[in-house]
Amino acid sequence: MTDIKSMDLEELKTFVKELGEAEFRAKQLFEWLHKSLIDSFDECSNLSKAFREKLKEVASLTGMEAIEVFESKIDDTKKYLFALEDGNIIESVRMKYEHGNSVCISSQVGCRMGCKFCASTLDGLVRNLSVSEMLDQVYKIQKLLGERVSNIVVMGSGEPMDNYDNIVKFVKIISSDMGLNISQRNITVSTCGIVPKIRELADEGLSITLALSLHAPNDEIRKTIMPVANKYALKDVISACDYYFKKTGRRVSYEYSLVAGINDNIKEAMNLVKLVNGRNIHINLIPVNPIKERDFKQSDKLKIKEFKDFLEKKGVNATVRREMGRDIDGACGQLRRRFIQSERNS
Ligand code: SF4
Repeated sequence: MTDIKSMDLEELKTFVKELGEAEFRAKQLFEWLHKSLIDSFDECSNLSKAFREKLKEVASLTGMEAIEVFESKIDDTKKYLFALEDGNIIESVRMKYEHGNSVCISSQVGCRMGCKFCASTLDGLVRNLSVSEMLDQVYKIQKLLGERVSNIVVMGSGEPMDNYDNIVKFVKIISSDMGLNISQRNITVSTCGIVPKIRELADEGLSITLALSLHAPNDEIRKTIMPVANKYALKDVISACDYYFKKTGRRVSYEYSLVAGINDNIKEAMNLVKLVNGRNIHINLIPVNPIKERDFKQSDKLKIKEFKDFLEKKGVNATVRREMGRDIDGACGQLRRRFIQSERNS
C-alpha cells in the first residue's frame, strides 16, 4: 500500500496521474488528507466513487492508533501513547497554554544519540518515523481534542536531524495553507547539535525555530552527558547556530537541562555567559527529569533560581521551563518505556 499521506503535492500529482486521474485531483486529495484529516476515503465527497475505490485498493490512510491517554491533574497536559502499524510504540504530548494547544511529537522510535539524562535512548534507535507518522501525531491529537493545534515542538523521542528529509517535508506539509496551515514561526525543531544538518536546515528557506540542546557550557562537561559532543566541538555547533540565525533571522533557543552537581553551579553559569558572548539567543533552563535507570538528580529550586538570576544579571535572556505533566511521567520516552516493560512482564 502506498503511504500517500507522506507525499507532497508534486508527488501526489504524479500518483493520481498514474491512477489515470486528472492532475487537479491531487490538490483535492491533499486537502482531504491534511485539512479535513479524513479517516476513510469514503469521506472524499468531491472524488468519484471509482477513484475512491481505487484509492482504497492502493493507498493506506490510518497507520496508527492512540492506545492510551494520560491526563495530568495539575496542568491539563495530556500524553498519548500511539501504536504504529508495525507494533512499535511512540509518545506525544499536548501542552495547554494561554496561546493555544502545543503538541510535542516524536521523530524516531528510540534514539541513537545516547544522551545520559534521556530515557528515549536507553534501547537505542529502532527506526525513523515516516512523514505521515509525524503528521498523524498532530492530526490524531487535534481530532481527539476537538480543538485546533497551533504550535508544534519536535522534541519528543528521537534526534530530528537524524531523520532530516522527513522532518523538512513534515514542516512543509503541516504549514501548508492546503493543510493545517500551522505557522512555521510556531514550529520548533530541536537538535543535540548535528553541525552539517543545522547548516543545511538554515539553507532550506524555512522560518521555524531551532532549539539547540546545549546542556553544558564547555566540551568537557558536555562530553560526559552527551556523546555527540565527541563528534562535534561546541565552537562548531555554536557557529552553525549563528549561521542559522544569520540565514533565517530566527533567534536560536539554547536548551540547558540543569542536573544537580553536574552543570548547575555558578561556575558553569559564568562559563555559559562567556560561551554565548552577547549573542541574540534565548536560554531555556530545564529542571532535568530524573529517570530511574540513570543517576541524575534535579537541581533544587534555589540553585535553579540562582543560576537564572546570574544569567539575567549578565544580560543573558533566560527562562525556566515550566514542568508540564509531572504527575504523568515527565521525561520523554518514560511512558513508552514503562508501557513496553509492563507488556513484557504481563
Ligand atoms: S535527548 Fe534527544 S537526542 Fe538526546 S538521546 Fe534523548 S531523544 Fe536522543
